[in-house]
Amino acid sequence: MTAGLYLHLPFCRVRCPFCDFVVVTRQQDKMKRYLAAMVREMERYRGLSLRTVYLGGGTPSTIAGSQLKWLMDQVCQRFVIEPNPEVTLEANPEDITVASLYAWKAAGINRLSLGVQTFHDRLLHRIARASPGDAEKRGVAWMYGLPGQTQEDWQHDVETAVGLGSEHLSLYALTIEPGTAFGRHAVSVNEDLQAEMYTWAMERLPACGYEQYELSNFAKPGYPSRHNLVYWRSEPYLGIGVGAWSFLKGVRYRNIETFSEYLCAVETRGTAWNEEDHLPPERRAREALILALRLSEGVPEKQMDTAATQTLTRFERYGLVERTWIEGTKTENRYRLTASGRRLSNQVFCELVL
Ligand code: SF4
Repeated sequence: MTAGLYLHLPFCRVRCPFCDFVVVTRQQDKMKRYLAAMVREMERYRGLSLRTVYLGGGTPSTIAGSQLKWLMDQVCQRFVIEPNPEVTLEANPEDITVASLYAWKAAGINRLSLGVQTFHDRLLHRIARASPGDAEKRGVAWMYGLPGQTQEDWQHDVETAVGLGSEHLSLYALTIEPGTAFGRHAVSVNEDLQAEMYTWAMERLPACGYEQYELSNFAKPGYPSRHNLVYWRSEPYLGIGVGAWSFLKGVRYRNIETFSEYLCAVETRGTAWNEEDHLPPERRAREALILALRLSEGVPEKQMDTAATQTLTRFERYGLVERTWIEGTKTENRYRLTASGRRLSNQVFCELVL
């Protein structure tokens, strides 16, 4: 079995008001202990073959380059790394220096995923992020529908990213989650404006040489995220760290989400599994179908059950789904969302949930 490896590094300087990820602040003194727990957790999977590694968080770029190198050395000692792996680090643009770039390269990192909300200082203030400065302009992950953001602000952000030659752009609509500061203060989003922003990006980015290979992701040819494709194609992945998910041999697992409990669990029993999700095969197949429909490559008809085919055929009549042939063959049908279907993807997915 070949898998993608996700390493969750939850350390952040402050918690952003819209963030509901598993993160910790003011716990840097436990860094060594946490990294050691991650390595202990890896031990159970010794010999697993990996084609991608993704260091996410949290803000992994706040961790010293020497510690990241140590962690990656531990990965290399325990797993079989396939040739030409994709090794991604999520980085805060503020953490990028010449020295950090050398350190990350020495650790084997060959892809940076930079989180940027907007280039506009006025809007950064509204979402309580530090001002980006020049370094932020390397970013590749954008958020739209921010409080006070206009369509013109959004278009300026996207055009700036394109002008900087980013190879990959992830564009996410701001959502307000309960339990976040935005949720507690009842911040609202303008969904109509978000839809207009998304539609504009879907039309603009292909004209600039980007393929929309997934609902929220655009890449120049040859630059899709191989690690994220593992998730959308329902391929195996191993998640290490607090709150991390794994999907192995058709079963999904989730680690404990509380930092201190995670440490204790791994230190005493070598694992932090909290939930095991043994879905019946038909529900698992539907989940895989919904994930695969996020991709522009679509889903082969032969992988779908009769009811799913009927549902998608109905959406085809409304112009939300289209059928394509696999290149070079006239025998295999694939279903995929049209541009209208991408805008209304949640409605399509709701109809497919068992
Ligand atoms: S930096 Fe990222 S992970 Fe950390 S709190 Fe902010 S949004 Fe969440």
